[in-house]
Amino acid sequence: MNIIDDFSKKLLFWFETNGRKDLPWQRKITPYRVWVSEIMLQQTQVATAIPYFNRFMSRFPSLDSLAAASIDEVLELWTGLGYYARGRNLHRTAKIVTSEYSGILPLNLEGLLELPGIGRSTAGAIISIACGGHEPILDGNVKRVLMRAHAIRGWPGERSIEAKLWKLAEKYTPTKRADLYTQAIMDLGATVCTRSKPRCNFCPIEDQCIAKHQKSQTAYPEKKPRKTLPRKETVFIIMQTKKNEILLQKRPQNGIWGGLWCFPEISSLDLIEAWRKELGFDGEIKIKKLPELIHTFSHYKLSIEPVLISCIKTTTPDMGKNNYIWYDKQNPTKIGLPAPIVKLIESI
Ligand code: SF4
Repeated sequence: MNIIDDFSKKLLFWFETNGRKDLPWQRKITPYRVWVSEIMLQQTQVATAIPYFNRFMSRFPSLDSLAAASIDEVLELWTGLGYYARGRNLHRTAKIVTSEYSGILPLNLEGLLELPGIGRSTAGAIISIACGGHEPILDGNVKRVLMRAHAIRGWPGERSIEAKLWKLAEKYTPTKRADLYTQAIMDLGATVCTRSKPRCNFCPIEDQCIAKHQKSQTAYPEKKPRKTLPRKETVFIIMQTKKNEILLQKRPQNGIWGGLWCFPEISSLDLIEAWRKELGFDGEIKIKKLPELIHTFSHYKLSIEPVLISCIKTTTPDMGKNNYIWYDKQNPTKIGLPAPIVKLIESI
């Protein structure tokens, strides 16, 4: 048996007795369920994704039901999961698949890669797990296993390293039982070859793992080279009525927190009065500064200065035009809220 067959056979054998087979997305496997789970599992741990996946499936059991939903409903179910572009892309893709592919995900690499939010690894997972097709995947767990097994130096996001890893992933993915192999290598990375404490004694490829032989497992993969993140500042205006209704504004679809509902924002506290006047929110108000919040995005840090304004509920002719609503904390509307907004709403 050559070394490549040996690698995949060992993984398949290990998965048979040790792999997880009862995760929600491993039951009633369909391309739709695999796709949603793969998108949720990007940047999210399995344990965190499970309740989100279950809620998502009970609300949108099929691709058609997802396509028919409003973006607010989708983002409401995404609230707290972060990286909201994933939720927006799921919704956009469901609409495209409904209108252009009669509601059925195209089950080939070219077709899937055309759809928003589907990269090669997600496409590979859909084709292999849902259809047993011979397509490799390369998520974070798989990268870690391959980098350790071959002692590949560097950061896996670097183009040349990624290309090397794809070549290995292609070589190891067997033509038969690709569905089980894909789940096996993902599972090995998630449960045995973990980031900080790999359990090499339980690993089926221990004897051929170079990092293990070098006793340098945790040196792979290397971290992304650090950059100092720039800092931006903003003021959140939390207008609250005596009945605990809060003024929220929908953000534009593109950009940070696109399509989610946030507090109105201004660049400096001095602009509050001008903002009120411009929008016609008059009447007596009381202003209280709340403690600063720092929220870190992947490419900058946002310093948020929240100010609580107690006011009488007023509406302006521009409520709809400016995408404002009064949000009732006791009886919340189904809308998507970013995590810092949820935190602030809960704190007041
Ligand atoms: S032997 Fe250890 S480091 Fe190597 S792949 Fe297995 S768990 Fe990971």
